[in-house]
Amino acid sequence: MKKITLLIFIIFCSCSKQKENEYFELTKKNDIELGKPVEGEWLYSHKEKGQSFEQFLNSKHIVPTSESNIIYIRPIGSFNSLQNKQIELLREYLEIYFQLKTKTLETVSNDVIPESSRRIGYENNQQFLAGYILDNVLKKDKPLNRIALMGLTEVDLYPKPEWNFVFGLASYRDKVGVSSIYRLQDGKLTSDNFNLCLSRILKISSHEIGHMFGLHHCITADCVMNGTNSMSETDKSSIRLCSVCQRKLNSGIKYDNKKRLTDLEQYFERNNLIPELQLIKKDIAVIQ
Ligand SMILES: [Zn+2]
Ligand SMILES: [Zn+2]
Repeated sequence: MKKITLLIFIIFCSCSKQKENEYFELTKKNDIELGKPVEGEWLYSHKEKGQSFEQFLNSKHIVPTSESNIIYIRPIGSFNSLQNKQIELLREYLEIYFQLKTKTLETVSNDVIPESSRRIGYENNQQFLAGYILDNVLKKDKPLNRIALMGLTEVDLYPKPEWNFVFGLASYRDKVGVSSIYRLQDGKLTSDNFNLCLSRILKISSHEIGHMFGLHHCITADCVMNGTNSMSETDKSSIRLCSVCQRKLNSGIKYDNKKRLTDLEQYFERNNLIPELQLIKKDIAVIQ
């Protein structure tokens, strides 16, 4: 009797595995191979080796557990209502994208950054030292069941005195990162540039948290895990996770692939993110 139960269990497991593999085989049809990098692009100046699915499986990476399964966002600074709306839309997106509970913590004031970690930058704007925020604000910020934590500032960031600025900085070992929305907003967030800025923050945050889950840069297909050198390269890059990177994420988090796609479709539809919606619709079409 035991043997029969075990056999049924094994057959059941192999069937669901086959179904999962089929999903990645089908969505692979929508992967767009990356062309040869041109001057100015990330892969032109960074010779990266990439990471196959097998290499990912053999690497050390986090998986959610009952004690570690919530993604947190910690806003730092003073945000206006449009910016707060964007943070809420980011929270909602991350919850769908990673299929993990995502919460926004209370906003903390810029007063947590001492004078010694601030400066007036080359463009005459205020800037904070990103490393200070990582080491002295975020690493010790341990809300319940934290699996990853993303700090968001409205003030510009710099990594080292000799650098002009940085979009963000992360410690993948500690699963914390900080990004600034300052440069994502082209000076001022308005209803006209809202969706462009939203799509940037969604791409950058899902990319950074993707690294925290062990995904390296993707060098084969057009993918949100592609490295980018500039805002224009980020704007050109895809919000979609290619089939190989989806397989990596799914092997760690173990969500329902079809549900994730449907949730993303509804999110893009609700928020009028049209090019993003079209990409997801293509994936939904191939798995029908
Ligand atoms: Zn990266
Ligand atoms: Zn990829």
